[in-house]
Amino acid sequence: MKILDGTIVKKEILNSLTKECSELSQQYGINPGLAVILVGNNPASKAYVGMKKKACESIGIKSFEYVLDAAISEDELIECIESLNQDSQINGILLQLPLPDHIDSDKMLQLINPAKDVDGFHPQNVGKLLVGLPTYKSCTPYGVIKLLEYYHIDPTGKHIVIIGRSNIVGKPLAVMLMQNDKIANATVTVCHSRSRNLSDLTSQADILIAAIGKPYFVTENMVKEDAIVIDVGINRIDDSSSSKGYKLVGDVDYHTVKKKVSAITPVPGGVGPLTIAMLMTNTLQSYKEYYVN
Ligand code: NAD
Repeated sequence: MKILDGTIVKKEILNSLTKECSELSQQYGINPGLAVILVGNNPASKAYVGMKKKACESIGIKSFEYVLDAAISEDELIECIESLNQDSQINGILLQLPLPDHIDSDKMLQLINPAKDVDGFHPQNVGKLLVGLPTYKSCTPYGVIKLLEYYHIDPTGKHIVIIGRSNIVGKPLAVMLMQNDKIANATVTVCHSRSRNLSDLTSQADILIAAIGKPYFVTENMVKEDAIVIDVGINRIDDSSSSKGYKLVGDVDYHTVKKKVSAITPVPGGVGPLTIAMLMTNTLQSYKEYYVN
């Protein structure tokens, strides 16, 4: 059984980005810039924004943070997004989700200039992804592709079952894996909360990907012998033995499932680190499109 360690892959990607970033910044006299907008006080979002800032600093991307009050009006947020759209120092804009209920997330995401949409959430970029045109690939699914690539797992012709159909993970990942592309060409089944006979479907998977948001949801009996399991889930559960009072677990019951499979990602340390690595990749891609191409 192989543990698919995302921290190693992240390190390798960041090392190569650091080198490229330093060469390009010298050549063009300006560092790439990533703006992160955080509305409100969601602790998980704050932690994630902190990790993004650290990653930016480590590779030479200038990080601009906009921490806005939870009670901010839509108009004020629109003003912030529009000023960043115009700002030539900013190559990528990331609007941290979830937003407070009184703000329409879809409307806000559509206001981000697609050329700076390094999260790959703008409908224009999602559409390009669907028809196989070059675009910003959303970071978590893109990270899964990089993980498969690093471990020489070729999805061609394999049956991949994804549990979860969200716009940020399940759907774009299904599209990437079914494309006629390098790390792709799989037969993809997407399951969701209304799927019947879920275990029957998941038990057929050569590669099973869980993106549900429910701790330990995938159990041993749902997985085929020697399958590969990718756990995208990140769930906080109470843990009195931790100084934080919680720990992070995936959507897969890791300790029992790992005994049955040929490879599995841990949580934390699997897909999670790659999301940030791919955000950095997309930010550098945007910079290159602005200055180099
Ligand atoms: P979401 O809530 O938007 O979507 C969850 C999906 O799971 C839905 O499509 C739903 O239909 C499906 N689902 C729920 N209950 C189900 C059931 N009983 N049977 C079958 N399907 C069911 O969540 P999301 O934003 O896609 O995130 C999923 C998980 O991935 C979460 O734990 C989240 O924290 C994690 N996540 C991790 C990263 C990362 O960087 N690794 C990034 C994004 C999300």
